[in-house]
Amino acid sequence: MASSRTILVAGAGIGGLTTALALARSGFRVVVCEQAQELSEAGAGLQLSPNASRLLIELGLGDALHPHIVAPDHLSIRRGRSGDELARMKLGREIAFRYGAPYWVVHRADLQAVLRDAVLAHPDIVLQLGARIHDLAVHQNGVTVQVRRGDRMGEERGLALIGADGLWSQTRRLLGETAAPRFGGRTAWRATVPAAAMPESFRAPAVHLWLGRGAHLVHYPVRAGALINIVAIVGDAWQGEGWSAPGSRDELLRRFGKLSWGGAAQSILQAPDSWLKWALFDRPPLRRWGQGSATLLGDAAHPMLPFLAQGAAMAIEDAMVLADCLAASPDDAPVGLRRYEMLRHGRTARVQRAARFTGEMYQLDGPLAFARNTLLRGMGDESLRARYDWLYDWRRA
Ligand SMILES: Cc1cc2nc3c(=O)[nH]c(=O)nc-3n(C[C@H](O)[C@H](O)[C@H](O)COP(=O)(O)OP(=O)(O)OC[C@H]3O[C@@H](n4cnc5c(N)ncnc54)[C@H](O)[C@@H]3O)c2cc1C
Repeated sequence: MASSRTILVAGAGIGGLTTALALARSGFRVVVCEQAQELSEAGAGLQLSPNASRLLIELGLGDALHPHIVAPDHLSIRRGRSGDELARMKLGREIAFRYGAPYWVVHRADLQAVLRDAVLAHPDIVLQLGARIHDLAVHQNGVTVQVRRGDRMGEERGLALIGADGLWSQTRRLLGETAAPRFGGRTAWRATVPAAAMPESFRAPAVHLWLGRGAHLVHYPVRAGALINIVAIVGDAWQGEGWSAPGSRDELLRRFGKLSWGGAAQSILQAPDSWLKWALFDRPPLRRWGQGSATLLGDAAHPMLPFLAQGAAMAIEDAMVLADCLAASPDDAPVGLRRYEMLRHGRTARVQRAARFTGEMYQLDGPLAFARNTLLRGMGDESLRARYDWLYDWRRA
C-alpha cells in the first residue's frame, strides 16, 4: 500500500522545492528525490514577476527572500547599435499597485537556497540528495518508484509522483513521452560581475533589454545590488546539454562586433572576464502530462524559451495549483492530478508560444526591426504595461 499521505517529487529545482512546500502546507508528507549530491550554486539571475512573487509571499518566504532580492524601478528597452532608449516601463511601485505583488530579480542560487532552507526546516518534508529516479510503476494505490543512490537501487512508494525533473525529464520519458527537446537555434551566455565593474549608468536597480541584429542582451542587479547579472543571446548551432559550459569572451565580443552592436552595449559585454553558456531548448505544448497517480511539473511539463522570463514563475504557479487540487481530492490522487493538468495546460501552452514569439520579435532585422522600434517608441508606459496584464495578473481559481 502507498503511504496514505506521502507524495513523491522527482527533482529539487525551483519547481520541486516549491511543490514540496505547497504540498506540506496542505497536510501531505513529501519525499523529494534529487539526483545531484548537493544543491550547488548554479545558474544566474531570475526575474520573478508578480504572478510568482505573490505565491512565494503566500508561502511565507517574503522575509527570507528580502535580503537577496532587488526590486527594479523600471525596464529600459534600448537599441543595440546606437544605445538609444526605445521604451521605458515602470516596474517598482506601479507594478506592485497594479498587480498586488512586487516585481523582483534574484540570483537563482539565492532563491533555491531560501526554498531549500524552508524545505529542510519542515518536519513533513524529506529531501534526499544523490537520489535519481530510475523507473516507476503506476498502480491502483499510487506509485512505486525505483531510486538509484550510487550503486544501490531502492524503492519509494507514494500516493502520487510529481516529475519536476527539468528539461531532460526522466519521469516524462518513463510516462511515454520520448521525443527530444526542440533546439531554439540560439545560445544564452551568462556572467555576473561586481556592480562596480559596470558603467555607472547601468548599476541602478533596473532591468535593461537591448535589441539588435542577430542578438539581444539583458542585464540587471542581483544579490541585493552587489552583482550585475548579464545574459547575451545569440544565434548559434551549438547544442550542448547542461547549464554551464564555458564560453570564450573573445568569441562573444567578436560576434557582437560582427553584428555591428555599438559602443555602449560593447562596454557591458567587456565587463566580465569569463562567461558560461547554455543552448536554448523548448518543447511544443504536450497534450497529456500524466497518467494515473503521476504527473509532470515545471520544465518537465512545459519547457520554454527564456524570453518572457517565466520558466521559474510557471513552475511556482504549477506547484500551488497542484497542491490545491490534491488537497481538494485527498482520497483520489488521479482526480486531483487531472484537474491540475486541466487548469495548467492552457496557460502554460500560451506562455510557451508567447515566449517563442517574443524571441522572434527581439532579434528582427532590417525593415521589420525598424517597424518594431517605431511601435515601441510610440507606446507609452501604460500601453506597454497593459500588454503584460494576462501574464502578471494571474490568480489561481
Ligand atoms: C543548474 C541549473 C541552472 C539554471 N540556470 C538558469 C539561469 O541561469 N537562468 C534561467 O532563466 N534559468 C535557469 N535554469 C532553469 C530554471 O531554473 C528553470 O527553468 C525553472 O526554475 C523551472 O525549474 P524546474 O524545477 O522545473 O526544473 P530545473 O530547475 O531544471 O530542476 C530540475 C531538477 O531535477 C533534477 N533531476 C533531473 N533528473 C532527475 C532524476 N531522474 N531524478 C532526480 N532528480 C532529477 C535536476 O538535477 C534538477 O535539480 C537553470 C536550471 C538548472 C537545473
